[in-house]
Amino acid sequence: MNILFATSEAAPFSKTGGLGDVCGALPRELAKLGHRPVVVLPAFRQVKLSGMPIEPTGVSVDVPIGQKMVRGQYLRSTLPDSDVPVILIEQPEYYDRPQPYREHGEDYKDNCERFVFYCRAALEAISRLGLPVDVVHCHDWCAGLVPAYLKTLYGRLEPWRGLTSVLTIHNLAYQGNFWHWDMALTGLDWKYFNWRQMEFYGNLSFLKTGVAFADAITTVSPSYAREILSPPLSCGFEGILQNRVGDLSGIINGVDYNEWNPAADRYLEGNCYDEHTYPAGKAACKRELQRLVDLPVQADVPMLAAISRLADQKGFDLITRVMRHWAERVDAQWVILGTGEPKYHEALGSLAKEFPDRVAVRLEFSDELAHRIEAGADIFVMPSQYEPCGLNQLYSLKYGTVPVVRATGGLRDTVVNATRQTLDDGTATGFSFEEYTSQALAEALDRACRAVREKAVWNQLVETGMRQDWSWRHSAERYADLYERTAARGPLAVE
Ligand code: ADP
Repeated sequence: MNILFATSEAAPFSKTGGLGDVCGALPRELAKLGHRPVVVLPAFRQVKLSGMPIEPTGVSVDVPIGQKMVRGQYLRSTLPDSDVPVILIEQPEYYDRPQPYREHGEDYKDNCERFVFYCRAALEAISRLGLPVDVVHCHDWCAGLVPAYLKTLYGRLEPWRGLTSVLTIHNLAYQGNFWHWDMALTGLDWKYFNWRQMEFYGNLSFLKTGVAFADAITTVSPSYAREILSPPLSCGFEGILQNRVGDLSGIINGVDYNEWNPAADRYLEGNCYDEHTYPAGKAACKRELQRLVDLPVQADVPMLAAISRLADQKGFDLITRVMRHWAERVDAQWVILGTGEPKYHEALGSLAKEFPDRVAVRLEFSDELAHRIEAGADIFVMPSQYEPCGLNQLYSLKYGTVPVVRATGGLRDTVVNATRQTLDDGTATGFSFEEYTSQALAEALDRACRAVREKAVWNQLVETGMRQDWSWRHSAERYADLYERTAARGPLAVE
C-alpha cells in the first residue's frame, strides 16, 4: 500500500518525544514489509540542523490562510538506511524557529496558523509532487485537520477523492486547542464548528477534529485505548471517543533493537552481554556505572533507576517521596537521569546532596548515560500516572533490568506482574501495582528488592524479560492490516 505519514516529527529529522521515534521507525518497517510509505514533515530548524542530506524539489505550494495566501517549498530527503522518501515543507516564517512548538514555557502564538498551513500543504503535496497514496496516516493534533480536509474541501476532487485516513493519538493530553475565531484560518465551513466535530468547550480543537473525521483511530497501546474512554484519562474527550469506539484500537509501539540491544551496545565497550552472559556482563556494567556516578562500588546492594522527563505524568511525586523514606532506612542505591519541571530538579538535587552514598542524580539529557543506566541497574522504576505506551520499560526488559511499574496504559500491556502463578507459568517479567500512591510503589519496590536476593527467581525474571520480542515488525503488520481494512471500507460518510 501507499501510505502518507502526516506527522510533525520523525527521527532523526526532528524529535521531541515518542512521536518522533514512532514516525522514524514505523515507515521503515512498513517498507520492509513491501509497502510504500512517504513521510511529510514541517521543515523545522531542527530538521535543517539534523545533518540529513536535503535537496530542493523546485516545487512550491500556495495555501490560503484566512484572507492571505502563504507560499511554501517542498524539499526532499529519505529516512536513513531505507529508501523511504521524506518530503519537508519549508516555510521559514513558520518553521525556522529555535523550537518546534513552544519556547520559554509558552506555545507559539500562531500555532494554529502554522499547522493549518502544514495540514493543507501536506495534502497538496499529493497532487503537486504526484505522490501515489492510498491511506493518509495522521499523527497527533498537528495533523488533526487532515482528516477533515479529506472529507470536505479536498475529498470531492482528484487526486484526493476516495482517500481514507487513520489518526494515531500518541498522548491525548496534547489537543491543539485554539480560540474559536481561528476557525476562519482553516477555510472550513463554520457548520463544522459544533460539539460533535471541531468545537471543544468553545474552542477549535485540532485533535477532536481528527477524532471526528478520521476513518480509523488508534492509540499506542490497547490499555490506553480503553482508558481514554472515561475520565480522567479521556481529558474531556470521553463523549467523542465513545462515539467512535467501534473505530478505535490500540497498537503497541515497537523498539529499535539496533539502538537498544545489550549484546551490541556501543556505549558498553567490553561489557556487552546477552541472555546467557548477563550475570558477568551486568555485574561489570553495574561497577562501571557506580564509578561513573560516584556511588560506592557494591555488587550486592540493589540499584534502582529511572530515566525520564521529570514530569507529574511520570510519577516523580511518588518517586521522590519513596526515595527520601528509603534513603534514610533501606540499603539500596538510586540513579536518576532526567530533565523537566524545576520542582523535581530541586527535590532530586537535594536528595543527592543529603545521601551521596545512596542517591545519584543527573539532570541532563544523555543518550550514553541512558544506555549505561539500563545496562548497569538492577531495577527500573516507572510509576506513571498514565502512560500511552512507554519505551523505557521495554528497553529495561531487553537489558535484564527488571521493571517496577504502575499498571496503566502500555505499562500494563508490556510488564507481567510477578505472582505465584505467573512465576510458575514462566510469564512474569516485573512488578506492577494499581493504586497511585507512594505506599503502593514502596510495596512493589520492596517485593522487587526481596526477589533480587532469591537468585533463581531473579534470574527467571531477567531471562524471561530479555527473551521478549517487542520489535517493530509485529506492530507494523498490525498497522498494515488496519490500512488495508480502512482503505477497503472507503471513506465514512460525514454529516
Ligand atoms: P515520553 O515519550 O512520554 O517522554 P517514553 O518512555 O515513551 O516517554 O520515551 C522517552 C524516551 O526519551 C526514551 O527513549 C528515554 O530513554 C528518553 N529519555 C527521556 N529522558 C531522557 C534523558 N534525560 N536522557 C536521555 N534519554 C532520555
